[in-house]
Amino acid sequence: MVKIKSLKYSELEAFVLELGEKKFRAKQIFEWMHKGVRSFDEMKNISKDLKEKLSEKADLEALELETVQVSKKDGTRKYLFRLSDGEFVESVLMEYSYGNTVCISTQAGCRMGCAFCASCEGGLIRNLTTGEILDQVLAVSKDIGEKVDNVVVMGVGEPFDNYDNLTGFIDNINDKNGFNMGMRSITVSTCGLVPEIKRFAKEYPQVTLAISLHAPNNELRNRLMPVNRKYELKTLLAACREYVKTTNKRITFEYILIEGVNDTAKQAKELADILKGLLCHINLIPFNGVIGKEFVATKREKAEDFKETLKELGFEATVRRELGSDIDGACGQLRSKRR
Ligand code: SAH
Repeated sequence: MVKIKSLKYSELEAFVLELGEKKFRAKQIFEWMHKGVRSFDEMKNISKDLKEKLSEKADLEALELETVQVSKKDGTRKYLFRLSDGEFVESVLMEYSYGNTVCISTQAGCRMGCAFCASCEGGLIRNLTTGEILDQVLAVSKDIGEKVDNVVVMGVGEPFDNYDNLTGFIDNINDKNGFNMGMRSITVSTCGLVPEIKRFAKEYPQVTLAISLHAPNNELRNRLMPVNRKYELKTLLAACREYVKTTNKRITFEYILIEGVNDTAKQAKELADILKGLLCHINLIPFNGVIGKEFVATKREKAEDFKETLKELGFEATVRRELGSDIDGACGQLRSKRR
């Protein structure tokens, strides 16, 4: 079976020709897929004959919507989708003043092992295909009957640990024959895989990059994020400086605030020190409770102090508004109550 939603537009054209059809059929099929149809039957202007060929040879990679939970606090919607092999994946829709944003997953599970995050509890199960990553956006868009304005790749999984399928997704969602989402409306977040950061800077300079930092020194970062033992802060930040130079874009640094762990004024200064001269925005995320983890969130007032310290030192910093926490849809909570 050909995973048809994972094909690039040019590959879809080749596939259609192989089936003995005219090239323009590719455009029709691509358009239908990007409208979020769940079966080949729904592709209205396509002949019965071609529909049959497609059902025989191609897998539409349509995710099965299992449940939608809606936050009573802020209307955030958390989607649980089932994949064809019975695995699950989650996506979250958030409404902002500048449009709606879908947070999508790139892997079932994760192997990065961050101490504070629920997504890695069962390890990595498997990478999602390009089609499975893409279909999260298409299925959510179909559900709300609206265009999705922005995508943040900040759900379950480490996107740069699944680089080819991630970039396949970006190519497809950006394709003018389909969803036509601008590169600038996409944000990818990584825990710090340095080779892929460098590659991404060259290949996708218009996509926004976010880095999960969470600690201002190696000693602490090693404890919180095992990836730091492979790519220490110095190496990571050198790659970030190179990124800014190549792309002319600022980086977003995500920094969770955990009480008594990484939230002192001294640590704020240490953070400012290591980021000195780097074009960036610092996004402070109040730690979200995750069952079975011993950490607690920094109190709001102290989080504001941390932000002010950074601002006084010349940085742009904000405390992220917490969305969807009552449905375990906030950062780090995905996958936590799945089983
Ligand atoms: N693996 C990628 C993509 C996930 S993004 C990355 O690490 O960047 C999800 C963001 O939520 C990351 O910044 C992650 O560190 C953060 N996060 C994880 N657990 C959290 C928690 N319990 N509370 C708040 N943020 C958390």
